[in-house]
Amino acid sequence: MALIDEEHITNEDAFQRACASLVGGVNSPVRSFAAVGGVPFFVAGGHGSYLTDVEGRRYLDYIQSYGAIIHGHGNPVVLSALTEAARQGTTFGAPTLGEVELAEMIQQKVSGVDLVRLTSSGTEATMTALRLARGVTNRSKIVKFEGCYHGHSDALLAASGSGVASLGLPASVGVAPNAVADTIVVPYNELPPIDETVAAVIVEPVAANMGLVPAQSGFLQELRSLTEQSGALLIFDEVITGFRVAEGGASALYGVTPDLWCFGKIIGGGLPVGAVAGPHHLMNHLAPTGSVYQAGTLSGNPLATAAGSAALRLLNTASYRMLTGRAEQLAFGLTKVIEEADLAVQVQRVESLLGIFFADEPVTNYRQAVASVERGIYPYFFHAMLKRGIALAPGPYEVLFPGLAHSVDDVDKTIDVASAAAAEARERWRRAG
Ligand SMILES: *Cc1c(COP(=O)(O)O)cnc(C)c1O
Repeated sequence: MALIDEEHITNEDAFQRACASLVGGVNSPVRSFAAVGGVPFFVAGGHGSYLTDVEGRRYLDYIQSYGAIIHGHGNPVVLSALTEAARQGTTFGAPTLGEVELAEMIQQKVSGVDLVRLTSSGTEATMTALRLARGVTNRSKIVKFEGCYHGHSDALLAASGSGVASLGLPASVGVAPNAVADTIVVPYNELPPIDETVAAVIVEPVAANMGLVPAQSGFLQELRSLTEQSGALLIFDEVITGFRVAEGGASALYGVTPDLWCFGKIIGGGLPVGAVAGPHHLMNHLAPTGSVYQAGTLSGNPLATAAGSAALRLLNTASYRMLTGRAEQLAFGLTKVIEEADLAVQVQRVESLLGIFFADEPVTNYRQAVASVERGIYPYFFHAMLKRGIALAPGPYEVLFPGLAHSVDDVDKTIDVASAAAAEARERWRRAG
């Protein structure tokens, strides 16, 4: 191994060293710069809305761990809950009250949730939800929407957005045809045909892995009645939207109650947690009460539940008012300055979640999202922002996560920077085109 002077390490050095031991230098493809070109910056630390890289450069951060962080990096309340828990031991393989506390918090905030099963990731939550749906209904087919991402399990990787889309992969090599034979993929915002072979319809109630695509008016309500009529379960994948678009998540925001919820990201307070949740009569089919098996050595981990409970406890009505206010300011400003740079743009927003499409018309499904991304403007805009100290996700299908640590000044600065960045991006895109 090359000796590296930690004092003077560059991102380039760090990346080269990473590539010698990690595949592609990263542990999740979305972190690579494959979609935008160049070398990723390596994070030395994060404080509030800012990140610092190993070169000592500071970035105003809109990635926020892809939505796992809502209070900003290193929130003192979350941090002290975490360190307090760590002093008592890190994992036991026996139940702890910390797990109960996090489950109770989810119960209280999300109306319709009676019982919770904690996992260590969102992927496990959606996998478990599918197995549970199949176990309960004794049916096998799953309906998912094109461009919705539900983690990297075989059955759900078909036509998902996020990193899979950025890398231009249809799904993944290595997924056996059998594994997706029961997955029916349909366009977002269109009502799918559902017959008596369908166990579940899984949906992101706000699609946030193909850029930000809101559910059109009535879409979720109609999915609810269609599934009710056919006996299929409706699963809301709220791994991003949960505790972010409203205190009670998207089900509260839209007034539509699914049969099962999947959570993740925010509920871990920056540590690995996922959850499946729902009413007694469904959740009790999971082992040990029922016969649908699911397990995890680190499920409900004491550190993760302590951080997650602390993060959720800090959220209240005022938090959401503030989040939405910031996001409104950001969306309005970005639209204005990008249009002034003579680029067609749609800044799409649901509460505090927002995404930037370089497109003439609002984007309502994956096909339109791909068409917008294929214009090829995002990589230029991304780099023009990054070199001016604003970190967006290095992939055109990700959303922005303004959080509670983003100040009015942070947002003003972002808009100022975006003005110059958009002009530069347009020039470079034109010249390349
Ligand atoms: C991130 C995400 C997942 C997967 O969660 P992991 O913790 O990365 O496994 C599932 N669904 C949605 C909507 C997500 O955004």
